[in-house]
Amino acid sequence: MQDEIAADAAGWMNAATDIAWDRAPTQALRLRPDGLADWFPDGRLNVCANALDRHVDAGRGDEVALIWDSPVTGTVARISFATLRDRVARFAGGLRALGLCSGDRVLISMPPVPEAVIAMLAAARLGAVHVVVFTGHGPGELAARIDDTTPTLVVSASCGYSGARPVSCLPAMHEALATATHRPAAWVLLDRTAGGQRPAPRLPGVTVTDFRDAEAAAPADPVMMPATAPLYVLHSSGTTGHPKGVVRDCGGYAVAMQRSMRLVYGMSPGDVFCTTADLGWVVGHSYAVYGPLIAGCATVLYEGGMTGTPDAGALWRLCADHAVDVLFTSPSALRAIRAVDPAATLASSHDLARLRAVFVAGERADRSIVDWAERAARVPVHDHWWQTETGWCIAGPRDVAEPSRRRIFAMPGFGLRCMDENGREQQAGEPGELVLRLPLPPGCLIGLWRDRTRMEALYLEKYPGCFRTFDYGGVGVAGDVTLLSRVDDVIKVAGRLVATGTIEDVLAAHPDVAECAVFAVDDALRGQRPIAHVVPNEGLDPLRLETLRVDLIESVRVSMGAFCGLRQIVFRAALPRTRSGKVLRRRATPDMTRLHDDVISQQ
Ligand code: AMP
Repeated sequence: MQDEIAADAAGWMNAATDIAWDRAPTQALRLRPDGLADWFPDGRLNVCANALDRHVDAGRGDEVALIWDSPVTGTVARISFATLRDRVARFAGGLRALGLCSGDRVLISMPPVPEAVIAMLAAARLGAVHVVVFTGHGPGELAARIDDTTPTLVVSASCGYSGARPVSCLPAMHEALATATHRPAAWVLLDRTAGGQRPAPRLPGVTVTDFRDAEAAAPADPVMMPATAPLYVLHSSGTTGHPKGVVRDCGGYAVAMQRSMRLVYGMSPGDVFCTTADLGWVVGHSYAVYGPLIAGCATVLYEGGMTGTPDAGALWRLCADHAVDVLFTSPSALRAIRAVDPAATLASSHDLARLRAVFVAGERADRSIVDWAERAARVPVHDHWWQTETGWCIAGPRDVAEPSRRRIFAMPGFGLRCMDENGREQQAGEPGELVLRLPLPPGCLIGLWRDRTRMEALYLEKYPGCFRTFDYGGVGVAGDVTLLSRVDDVIKVAGRLVATGTIEDVLAAHPDVAECAVFAVDDALRGQRPIAHVVPNEGLDPLRLETLRVDLIESVRVSMGAFCGLRQIVFRAALPRTRSGKVLRRRATPDMTRLHDDVISQQ
């Protein structure tokens, strides 16, 4: 294992030479007592300077850095590296004038607009720590994040859009600021209302400053930070209890972002990368902002929906209009498009000649959706696996240029192991919990915000020397990784463990199924049994539902065996989802077969 770590260290030291350092590191890593690593411990750099200034200094200032495509406001903007650097430097000057210093936190809750990226990079420029919060969060969740990270400033916008409908963001932030125990000194507000009339949300002790006034300040130079200093805190998507703030460092993250753009996505400077993820989630941080910009690529920021702005061809139009090289989206986004446009006719009306590959992550991508997306996009569609905690991909395809082989492998630096319930390593191909041997590679979390005890108890204690992913799956003889479900979603039917994802795969293969989720219900005889929630394709004749039910139950019986005991299928118009768009998985009880109002029919 020591050899494995030493080989990784040499590789990462080599990768670090692609980053602009104020003081180059002489050491790849220093092991910490908890088993994690401080990466590049004696290096100093500024992450914003790596994302912007160095490209301008290299003569690439006129090249496009950020493409903002907002069908909901009817706007397309192309911002060059030089313009973005200047706007970020001025906004950083404005934040400094409002009292923001290196090490302070700034909480940002904004829709996908260029100003959100500017605010993130301006914080990084000053060596401050940004805490980006998804705009869909309510006042309680916002207040919890304000109290957790005690920001000096908050930055928000007057409104965002849900589909094509404007939604005011003011009440949630106002209530959060009024109810949080901690009170930031200033609220920087981007006013998006036509005519520029600024609403005046008064709060004692909080100065309200217009975003554009803050941006009129004198530019601030990048503040050089230790590589191990925190760059941002990103809270997990959980909606209850004390939020879990994943902390990312400056040096390790910058190196991981730069390297992963080439290694995972095959991107070169000047290429165009597009992700549909919100800035409030990990993919938004890593691959709408830092990854592409650090690697000198252009990034597409999309403010629109998948099917209603104006139709289910929006994603393909986005790729065609901006000559996107690689698209990163979620299986759910593709399923939403397929449900409306199963024959992918809208995709065929766009010129996708530049598109090289599509990547999906965030949840299980069943074979049928990957096949459909490959037919629609006419390029390989690669699944890859990662988490907020890891910041980048744990396992993905070996060669992005190759046709998708539906197999993923651990990325360099991720020592993947599969454990049984008692902490023994599983044989190749046997299912168990997937864990990562310590230390984690650069780019992963360096801790939970001000909560070392929770970090150790949650991730490090159960399997000594390893980091828990809480994902259940297997590693094959060839090192290929299979993901079956979250460990909490493994059910025990008549003494046998069944990953709900395996049943979902069988159901999803049916051509009339748009999406599905399988839950466990308690069963007096068998301990637990599965129940499936199925969303049929749009327009399916309701008279076909009965036949579909029989077909689905039979196909699970044939493919998995009778022991699996799937007898109950609930047809629904939509699946319950978390704020981040993942299927909400909670244990169902026998009387919970009607979880929501949109049940189409049930047995
Ligand atoms: P989050 O941290 O909210 O981005 O969620 C991370 C979780 O999403 C992982 O731990 C997995 O359970 C799931 N996930 C991410 N990518 C994949 C994938 N390619 N296949 C299956 N599940 C995935």
